[in-house]
Amino acid sequence: MARVALVTGGSRGIGAAISVALKEAGFQVAANYAGNDQAANDFAAQTGIPVFKWSVADFEACQAGIAKVEAEIGPVDVLVNNAGITRDSSFSKMTVEQWREVMATNLDSLFFMTKCVFDGMKKRGFGRIITIGSVNGQKGQFGQANYAAAKAGAIGFTKALAQEGARSNVTANVVAPGYIATDMVKAVPQEVLNSKVLPQIPVGRLGEPEEIGRCVVFLAGEGAGFITGSTLTANGGQYMA
Ligand code: NDP
Repeated sequence: MARVALVTGGSRGIGAAISVALKEAGFQVAANYAGNDQAANDFAAQTGIPVFKWSVADFEACQAGIAKVEAEIGPVDVLVNNAGITRDSSFSKMTVEQWREVMATNLDSLFFMTKCVFDGMKKRGFGRIITIGSVNGQKGQFGQANYAAAKAGAIGFTKALAQEGARSNVTANVVAPGYIATDMVKAVPQEVLNSKVLPQIPVGRLGEPEEIGRCVVFLAGEGAGFITGSTLTANGGQYMA
């Protein structure tokens, strides 16, 4: 029986590439999304991957959403915590709302989603929790105190979880991308990309979502059972953690 993988924010950007890569690797994949029905329905029609709508920032919605995925597809063996947002602002101008929104979607969600699947994984003796971090959680970034804190938090969360799941063959790892060509990065003006971002990337280009998809497939596999608590950095050499 194919293992079941659930990808949050799995209908667009990096998450869509992760969903497709896992499907191509033989997983039964479910993709969660928040609100962009058009993108989600197009993605489902193009890939045959079912989509499930709820906010990962809402614990009760996570419980109900995962129950639906499990009833329709089966118990979740691989959870990819990919959904994330930015609300950038210099710290002096950052509002409490910008802080809370990013914490809720990028950090609270890790607890909410993992809480719903971790004990089942331990009981069944197999699990993979893969969280998408960020280079900016490793090195910090001007205008992203909220985002950098949440993404650094993902690394601490993962290291603790790795210790709790290890005996049950439940691994927890982070994939920390650098700048990847998705809607999130397309929001950065081209002139800023050319003058500020690209010169910092030794390989001289943005990453492709598929390159992150391949990292996740590697960590999700049976053969990755000895890798836990780690952060796999995929940033074109921008920051060597
Ligand atoms: P996109 O903005 O392209 O896509 C974000 C996805 O997350 C969408 O599917 C969106 O759903 C979903 N999402 C947002 N909020 C929620 C929520 N509350 N509940 C459920 N789903 C939600 O982002 P990227 O693909 O660029 O980023 C994916 C991950 O990679 C994020 O965690 C991001 O922080 C991280 N990352 C991205 C980098 C980049 O360069 N792009 C670099 C480093 C890390 P919907 O379609 O419904 O809006």
